[in-house]
Amino acid sequence: MNTTTSKKQMLLLTSLLVFVTGCSIGGLPVSVGSSCPDCETIICPDRETLSIEYLGSGGYVLRRGQDVVLLGPFISNPGVLTALSLKRIEPKADALERWLPDVSTADAIIVGHAHYDHLLDVGWIAEHRARQAMVYGSRTVAHLLAAVPALEHRVTVIGSEYSAGDSASTAKPWIHIPATRVRFLPIKSEHAPHFAGIKFMTGVLDEDLDRLPRRANGWVEGRTLAFLIEFLHPTDDRALFSLHYQDAASNPPLGYPPPGIRVDATLVCVASHRQVSGYPSVLLERVRPRHVVLGHWENFLAPYTQDPDKLRGVPFSDPWDFIDQVEQYVATRQGSQWVLPAPGSELLLVACP
Ligand SMILES: [Zn+2]
Repeated sequence: MNTTTSKKQMLLLTSLLVFVTGCSIGGLPVSVGSSCPDCETIICPDRETLSIEYLGSGGYVLRRGQDVVLLGPFISNPGVLTALSLKRIEPKADALERWLPDVSTADAIIVGHAHYDHLLDVGWIAEHRARQAMVYGSRTVAHLLAAVPALEHRVTVIGSEYSAGDSASTAKPWIHIPATRVRFLPIKSEHAPHFAGIKFMTGVLDEDLDRLPRRANGWVEGRTLAFLIEFLHPTDDRALFSLHYQDAASNPPLGYPPPGIRVDATLVCVASHRQVSGYPSVLLERVRPRHVVLGHWENFLAPYTQDPDKLRGVPFSDPWDFIDQVEQYVATRQGSQWVLPAPGSELLLVACP
């Protein structure tokens, strides 16, 4: 065996080890419980609150009064062999029943792309726990969910007419979620390669499935979208809370919200951020949010946990490098803050209408 071959094998072995175990998170300032950085300073009689609860793997529950929106909820966390398509994949009802919070009044489930770590649980949740929710996603998302009879007429295909990378793209086709004071703008984005420039599970579907894919590689990406989500003022059509959300890292300016719009919090994606350029530093400089929420940072190839002592970092991603970039941004934007949430933790935003 020559030296080059043995080095390659060492690299492969090390990579596999990282893949299986995730990265150590020793010393990472993981946030647990509920935090409300502005509760002491923003005070008024009719104050409103937006709860941003992190579920893990870039999934969230957003709640403002009666308005409840899920973003790519995922709890099942199949193991490595399943992720490698060597074993069957399916939602884990026991994990979902244990860990999913009450989402029975959810109005919508918004999905950024169709990989299993964002979509696998959506059919189960929409059928069993969020029975009134409409699901919004790409055409590929809709073709996959066509295999879930309970979701008939409940999936809305959303396009990517707005693209920050296209100067001719001036239309902003906001989508209003029925019976809520919430609207969102889908934004053309992209999905960073997973590792060493390689992206897995690529492709789109162009016809309905009659059963859900039984292997991870059947959950193909489809088109990846980012979102600007506005919880509107109680009486005016202006945002009371405005969030930018990405479930995959992207090269600038793909996935960026329209310029000139205030963004209170941006929910960014730690996983694979080094596989694209300037993420998240360029995004944060452009958007200038007050709060930065670091999502998709923990190892979703390990069994689901909310225990900070058991959490590990997502493989092939360096959370410290990400945090360095976020801290550099925070240092330039007075009053801004960032949080690395443990699954199950919550960030509360407050605002006076
Ligand atoms: Zn993905």
